[in-house]
Amino acid sequence: MVSTPQPTLRDRAWSAAAAVPDPELPMLTIAELGILRGVELVDRFVEVTITPTYSGCPAMAAIALDIERALHEAGIENTRIRLVLAPAWTTDWLTDEARAKLARNGIAPPGARGSNCLFDNTPVPCPRCESNATERIAEFGATACKSIWRCTACREPFDHFKCH
Ligand SMILES: [Zn+2]
Repeated sequence: MVSTPQPTLRDRAWSAAAAVPDPELPMLTIAELGILRGVELVDRFVEVTITPTYSGCPAMAAIALDIERALHEAGIENTRIRLVLAPAWTTDWLTDEARAKLARNGIAPPGARGSNCLFDNTPVPCPRCESNATERIAEFGATACKSIWRCTACREPFDHFKCH
């Protein structure tokens, strides 16, 4: 029997796709955000499955192009992107590393996993000084994913990656 190169190809494809940064949050990869759902070999294609984040974030077309480019740069030619809408993405899919990276970049991460976003009234701590003395300035920031807050302790404004 000749050993099949398929597992190697799949692993290479996963690594290439997982390293693609999110266009709107370039400090995070699509794997850390939970957008990357799977990489499979289907027929002769490398099929990458992704789930969109907020419907208000028009980044999925750009992400699909970035994934294809990353795969091509890894020497993988026959690619296709599959969009899966269910189960719907939530901020629970963010890895702990992703939350830590957001905070290090001055963006308050979404609340703890499993919290009910609609009724979550817990304060959003300032990512700079960790004070809970913060107030929301605007529901929508530069993108629908983020709201704008201000810390009344250190007086710095900051983005909050909203619970979803
Ligand atoms: Zn502060």
